[in-house]
Amino acid sequence: VGRRAVLHLLFLAAALSNATACAPPAPPRDLVLVSLDTVRADHLDAYGYARPTAPRLAELARGAWLFRNAYAQDANTGPSHATLFTGLYPPQHGAVDNNVRLPAGPTTLAEVLRTDGWATGAFVSGWPLRAMASALDRGFEVYDDELDDKRRRGPQTTERALAWWRASAPRRRFLFLHLYDAHGPYEPGARLARQFKSERRGPIVERLPSYQRTRYPFGKRRERRGEQEYVDAYDASIRELDERLAELLAEVDLRRAAVVVLADHGESLTERFWKFDHGGQAFEEEIRVPLVLAAPGLGARIVDDIVELVDVLPTLLPLLGVPTPPALQPAGHDLVAVVRRGAARPRHAFSSARALSPRHADRGYRLDRERRIHALRGERLKLIVYPGASEDYQELYDLAEDAGERRPLPAGAHPAEAARLARILQRYAATPALPAERHEPSAEDAANLRALGYLD
Ligand SMILES: [Zn+2]
Repeated sequence: VGRRAVLHLLFLAAALSNATACAPPAPPRDLVLVSLDTVRADHLDAYGYARPTAPRLAELARGAWLFRNAYAQDANTGPSHATLFTGLYPPQHGAVDNNVRLPAGPTTLAEVLRTDGWATGAFVSGWPLRAMASALDRGFEVYDDELDDKRRRGPQTTERALAWWRASAPRRRFLFLHLYDAHGPYEPGARLARQFKSERRGPIVERLPSYQRTRYPFGKRRERRGEQEYVDAYDASIRELDERLAELLAEVDLRRAAVVVLADHGESLTERFWKFDHGGQAFEEEIRVPLVLAAPGLGARIVDDIVELVDVLPTLLPLLGVPTPPALQPAGHDLVAVVRRGAARPRHAFSSARALSPRHADRGYRLDRERRIHALRGERLKLIVYPGASEDYQELYDLAEDAGERRPLPAGAHPAEAARLARILQRYAATPALPAERHEPSAEDAANLRALGYLD
């Protein structure tokens, strides 16, 4: 072989390797979406929490995109998941509360993937996501919502999900796994309860939903518990979820799958007058959620942009190489395009919650429970509008000065920015909703919903 031919070969080899380096990586073959119900971001070690509540998630996050400012669009399970699956805000998709079924109309992520030929399976663990109450089974070939009682424990749900995962291997797979063990009443197993037990009990808790008082997770039965005992049980319950995540990821080939781990809402612990609950307040602890996105070729990154669960669907379809059908008009944004290519995304997040006066009794609000609390989290300021029984109230917080939302700013503070946020929030709240169909619970349903704090 002449010298010239060798040079030519070398040139070809270099061109080829260059082409390989520049070609976009093949889209992930499978999608795993894990929803950790009721897990607030700041109680995860991946988000800086001092206790090792979720070491497997932290390990996943080290090789993934971790969104530090991700927001749920509602503090309740049903509407939050409806947003996740439709890429629409609650006023747009119409499933604005638990037990309000997703109206016909919005196309779901599972429908798009199923039409594209994927195997689609959902395995859920909590009452509000039952197909009958949520209509979120749309597009899933398998939607397993057989709960033992009002919930299903993580090991049972995960075992069924894994059996489906293995059996569906010949096709591209979309697995949705919903785990509910961190939802109250917190009842971690004895091993983890011991591991997370603190020395001190903390002050006795007076005001919390009745469903949290049911059982004592460790030691002898006691009616009144200290704040720290509840926090310990909550943290131990998150670790239960992380063990399920570890079992699942042991069977997922991360070189060929996109994995998303998130929560539908957080949990108010000791911050407020009303403790150990969610759904009725729009403070950070109830709406700021973990969001971790791992996919081959994506690499590791910490993202500080304000993002929302409404962005998950429009991020996933392009990432998976699946075209967005014309009928699907997501309200959210493709976060890969936002982060990598600087595509525009508004620098705020919407959220909502149920208007329940007992949660705000210390503030003296009498709320109109037929309407919802709406919040807009801007870059520095956050506006919360409460539907009052006689007139609406609003609170403005400066998150840079008061991250714990303890001191609403006096009326007239930051007038221009406050007015801008109010205008955006008004447009949002005025979105004409699709006609929704309320699922009327049976007597048994009602008892179960009450036991989980969904009915008063
Ligand atoms: Zn939930």
